[in-house]
Amino acid sequence: MAEVGLSGVRKVYPGGFEAVKSVDLRIGDGKLCVLVGPSGCGKSTLLRMIAGLEAVTAGEISIGGQIVNDREPAERDIAMVFQNYALYPHMSVYDNMAYGLRNRRVPKPEIDRKVREAATALSIEAMLSRKPHQLSGGQRQRVAMGRAIVRDPKVFLFDEPLSNLDAKLRVQMRIELRRLQRHLGTTSVYVTHDQLEAMTLADELVVMNAGRLEQIGTPMEVYEKPASAFVAGFIGSPPMNLIPAQAGPDGLRLSGAARPIAMPIHGDIVRPSLLIGVRPEELQPGTGGPGAVAFDLTVSGVEPIGAESLIHGQVGDGHDATVRAAGYVEHEAGAVLPVHTRRGSVHLFDAETGQRI
Ligand code: ATP
Repeated sequence: MAEVGLSGVRKVYPGGFEAVKSVDLRIGDGKLCVLVGPSGCGKSTLLRMIAGLEAVTAGEISIGGQIVNDREPAERDIAMVFQNYALYPHMSVYDNMAYGLRNRRVPKPEIDRKVREAATALSIEAMLSRKPHQLSGGQRQRVAMGRAIVRDPKVFLFDEPLSNLDAKLRVQMRIELRRLQRHLGTTSVYVTHDQLEAMTLADELVVMNAGRLEQIGTPMEVYEKPASAFVAGFIGSPPMNLIPAQAGPDGLRLSGAARPIAMPIHGDIVRPSLLIGVRPEELQPGTGGPGAVAFDLTVSGVEPIGAESLIHGQVGDGHDATVRAAGYVEHEAGAVLPVHTRRGSVHLFDAETGQRI
């Protein structure tokens, strides 16, 4: 069993900057946990603390039930895969993959078996005698993964491993990585700033913001029930529309809108200012049937994206909003388009705290 546990983990860098603020997290055995968040939110710092490359300021890190705070990286039974591959340029693919095992004095026949097995799993058997400069970016990344796999560690740590690859290769490698991780069943922590990569890879998704964990859940839990306006705006593409609104005597009203939207008000949502969240894919042109939540969008432009069109515009007092409509649609800039959604598709957030209501 190789559960990874973080308890009250903090990182204050010399100079006083608090990059990670008391994080508690439990990553189940064999799970792939993705840490996602904007640049500078502290996700690499957190990963590097698990790896032992960065000391914790406070808190405890455990791997497989053992507290590892005082263990060197080499003693933590982890393997890390970096964005820049970190391969030895003068060594062949075979030697790059065998290096760690030779250092640990693993018998030669076992090294050979492990390297060949990993190479087969990664479809790089034919490249074992090449040097890294004779490989494509995707092949180099496979070697970096191969080197991690042969060590058979308790935990894989991935720091944006696919971000140097082009878009098409990234998708292909993402699928392969997911398949391989499931097959090996090795507990993994994966850092990315790409929300789509995070959604497609994760068993457990952890959204980070400014050194804190904003939400932990399965990708669908986080997508369907974002815990805060920050998460709502970060997960999903195009992002969720977040529109300022007020609760008045006649119902909820978008800021500056002429009429209220048909959202029932209950005690919980009576507060000075709210954000109404609706995903672009949950909005449809038209006023909808009885009970639909409807408002007007003043169109600023339409982007056709193949099977769908993104209709951009403003609602209420000029707040930007986007509708993702099926098919190819045309609207003049300046046209006023009624749009609607179901009540169940409306998310409400406190505008001051950002928390879900
Ligand atoms: P990115 O996606 O850009 O890599 P990140 O979420 O991984 O971002 P970290 O690299 O963990 O972010 O950095 C978190 C914060 O800590 C940043 O504001 C960064 O400037 C700061 N930081 C990182 N390393 C140090 C350091 N050695 N000394 C001081 N501050 C640091």
